[in-house]
Amino acid sequence: MVYGTWRMLDDAPTSQDINRRMNRCLELGITTIDTAEIYGGYAVEAALGEAMASSLDLRNNLKIITKSGIYVPNPKNPERTVGFYDASAVQLKKSVETSLKLLGREQIDLFLVHRPDWFTSVDDTAQGLNTLVQEGKIKRAGVSNYNPSQFHALNSRMDTPLLTNQVEFHLLNMDASVDGTFDLCQQMRMQPMAWSPLAGGKLFDRNHPAAVRLAQVASALAGKYGGATLEQLAYAWVMGHPSRPIPVIGTNKLERIESAVRASLITLEREDWYAMWVAAKGHSIP
Ligand code: NAP
Repeated sequence: MVYGTWRMLDDAPTSQDINRRMNRCLELGITTIDTAEIYGGYAVEAALGEAMASSLDLRNNLKIITKSGIYVPNPKNPERTVGFYDASAVQLKKSVETSLKLLGREQIDLFLVHRPDWFTSVDDTAQGLNTLVQEGKIKRAGVSNYNPSQFHALNSRMDTPLLTNQVEFHLLNMDASVDGTFDLCQQMRMQPMAWSPLAGGKLFDRNHPAAVRLAQVASALAGKYGGATLEQLAYAWVMGHPSRPIPVIGTNKLERIESAVRASLITLEREDWYAMWVAAKGHSIP
């Protein structure tokens, strides 16, 4: 599992709080964190850098994934009148150099193009990524939210193959399992990353019919899986897909990080995986 930091500043943590959270991740065996230039209104990378500065353990042992390429109007950039993507080589270099500075690192372990940029050629993006790898500023490159043909096109220009595609995948959005994304991952023997594995919390919304059905199935399955909760079964469901998606977990609560890690021990049986599929969809398989 990877720990995601999109919502990290939502509960206004102090640097010590962030430090504690990251250390707890390490203790639990989560050794990679996922962040992005845009997270927290372009403020999360700096907060992470500050929290890690005081801890040799975090600096030495925590691997970092960051992403760039999304630029939206925000108080720090009042000149922006419209949101846009930029995955040009020039912008990628600028973003990675800024991320390195903010995170206090010499190398990003995995750098992802956050979203496909329709206004930049794959040659331009690939040249940027290839140069960043050659210069040692990033160890590996990957993408996020790319469809299979976008992935293929960019990958065809890479000196070192793209390492992953980080996409939305959870019980309330199974697109990646039917639109070719996960088929391509299996074909290339590449492990995808699954963002919002708990549907961003919607799995617990009692007004959401699919969430209510899933809660019922989860309580029926709990006994068989050692008292597993809905969230643990939902993580196990994501990890159960044969492309072996790596969940990027987003909770800010230590006890929920601990519970998530226990989900790694659950291997759902075929009929139970499908029972959750049916509950999520609200109809039987075709
Ligand atoms: P998530 O795990 O699906 O959702 C986390 C949300 O669910 C939090 O608000 C959390 O609240 C809530 N939650 C968790 N357990 C709960 C429970 N038992 N009951 C009620 N609420 C619960 O993940 P996410 O935050 O949407 O995304 C995870 C990570 O994926 C992000 O941090 C980011 O790194 C990555 N991501 C990537 C992209 C991309 O485009 N590449 C897009 C979105 C996200 P608490 O904090 O209170 O537990």
